[in-house]
Amino acid sequence: MKPSKQLLNDILEEVRPLIGQGKVADYIPALAQVPANRLGIAVCYNDGEIIQAGDSEEGFSIQSISKVLSLTLAMTLYEADEIWSRVGKEPSGHAFNSMIQLELEQGIPRNPFINAGALVVSDLLHSRLSAPQYRMLELVRSLACNPDVAYDKDVAASEMQHSDRNAAIAYLMRAFGNFNNDVVPVLGNYFGYCALKMSCVDLARTFSYLANKGMPLGTDTPLISPTQSKQINALLATCGLYDGAGEFAYRVGMPGKSGVGGGIVAIVPGEMSIAVWSPELDASGNSVAGTAALALLAERIGRSIF
Ligand code: GLN
Repeated sequence: MKPSKQLLNDILEEVRPLIGQGKVADYIPALAQVPANRLGIAVCYNDGEIIQAGDSEEGFSIQSISKVLSLTLAMTLYEADEIWSRVGKEPSGHAFNSMIQLELEQGIPRNPFINAGALVVSDLLHSRLSAPQYRMLELVRSLACNPDVAYDKDVAASEMQHSDRNAAIAYLMRAFGNFNNDVVPVLGNYFGYCALKMSCVDLARTFSYLANKGMPLGTDTPLISPTQSKQINALLATCGLYDGAGEFAYRVGMPGKSGVGGGIVAIVPGEMSIAVWSPELDASGNSVAGTAALALLAERIGRSIF
């Protein structure tokens, strides 16, 4: 069932009282400036129709949502074995920026959606592309059908200034032989991807390819194959919300990916892609009101992959 604009408005009003219960990310100082009261949602149906409510056209930092885009780009450039010999496919059960398993598991990250995994994927992109940030921007602009999508340079610079933990993760992987390029430029690219500034409408359009077997909105050229699209959705369902992935599956029941900017994308395969935004996060780094909005939407339209 296609959600109506009225339904989306009602859902936002139902979850708005949750604002105040979470915490805006402040470990990247530029993100701490974002007003906590923003709340938006957009649904992109596979026929191209967009249904939206609230602050759905205001750009925000997509942060870890970009990890899905970098993995997708890597899957277009590499054979499966070249990727999956360097990063796993298992939920981590630990925080997105945890290093605890890396030491125990010989520098192989649990999955591509935690920081360590996304850094390996960024290393892969760096090895194969002469201008990875440019290529990413080109891809995202075309998927979002929006030539104005851009990197927020202030957010990227702010993260670079506070990059000790991500740098430590990358150096540890390099010590284990699972990082082939100089750490600093790869970190710079990774922070750039995280600092992409997009709205809920941009994101819902962008992730349409995962609702449509790898076919981006408005094209007849597949970005990835139906099998690859299914594989990414499976990884999103199991690993997309870090140590909150089980809770998200229980409450929402869709493949999803969060970011510490407060955005979450969710996919109903075969039907629609959804993006929500509310900056306050829970202890796992997932949007409090965003998760609640997706849970209500899933229930009201009767959709779940389970
Ligand atoms: N750029 C953030 C980081 O590396 C992304 C984390 C996130 O969104 N969970 O810490």
